[in-house]
Amino acid sequence: MPAAIAYHDVRKAGDRLVCDAAPVALVHDRFVPLHLREEPLMPDLLVRSIVKEYPTRGEPLRVLRGVSFEMSAGENLAIVGPSGCGKSTLLHILGTLEQPTSGTVELGGVNPFTLSEPELARFRHEKIGFIFQDHHLLPQCSVLENVLIPTLALGGTTEQDIERAHMLLERVGLAQRLNHHPAEISGGERQRVAIARALIAKPVLLLADEPTGNLDRSTAESVASLLLELQQQEQTMLVCVTHSTALAERLQQQMELDGGLLQKLAA
Ligand code: ADP
Ligand code: MG
Repeated sequence: MPAAIAYHDVRKAGDRLVCDAAPVALVHDRFVPLHLREEPLMPDLLVRSIVKEYPTRGEPLRVLRGVSFEMSAGENLAIVGPSGCGKSTLLHILGTLEQPTSGTVELGGVNPFTLSEPELARFRHEKIGFIFQDHHLLPQCSVLENVLIPTLALGGTTEQDIERAHMLLERVGLAQRLNHHPAEISGGERQRVAIARALIAKPVLLLADEPTGNLDRSTAESVASLLLELQQQEQTMLVCVTHSTALAERLQQQMELDGGLLQKLAA
């Protein structure tokens, strides 16, 4: 991690910022010399020793036994593993929907589990987008309205939100379906709406739980392509749980959750 540079070290030369004769860039609110930028910066998602137990009448059920990993903006990760191994549990913890029994999560330098309940809800709405196996669209709302729903939790829908919703729906090929209702579009189209909805608030972390699990193979392929294209375009992080080796192989990293531990999947 390069040391931060004091602001008074930085001067302007024409339209460039220089510091000790080296050009600098503003990264994470700090000036960092460009020649040091190649070094890895602080990861944007830091997951450390997550343990999750569920109480039972007897011994607690220990689902996660010390899960650790980290990611930076623009990276994507597939998590595979047998049914019941704790994949959804891990996603719920990353999504701040559930507290770990022990261990820490840091997203953008913030441990969400130290926030108050209202702060946590806002944090979740601002930072995290969810895509589930089932689309979870509201049947009474149009495609456009469904994409805008997360903005309601962030103080109300703005003109920019509406513009962004149009842009995202255009990107997922649904510009001609804005006023359709979920019952009037196909399964693949519903999942594309869910992708647009997950991205509306510009999340830094996108969590997908079997996002193509209910789709036939060719639809699954095209939905996966869109998901990955948009994730790259938006430079969010993506953690995607999947049973599909075809989908997992398309992501940059593959890890397996087994016996409560997360390990790199052997190639
Ligand atoms: P996966 O998504 O990998 O199929 P889950 O994370 O849904 O697995 O579940 C992991 C294990 O934890 C399962 O044995 C499940 O029964 C158990 N489990 C999940 N949620 C709860 C809960 N709220 N209370 C008790 N046990 C749970
Ligand atoms: Mg699951």
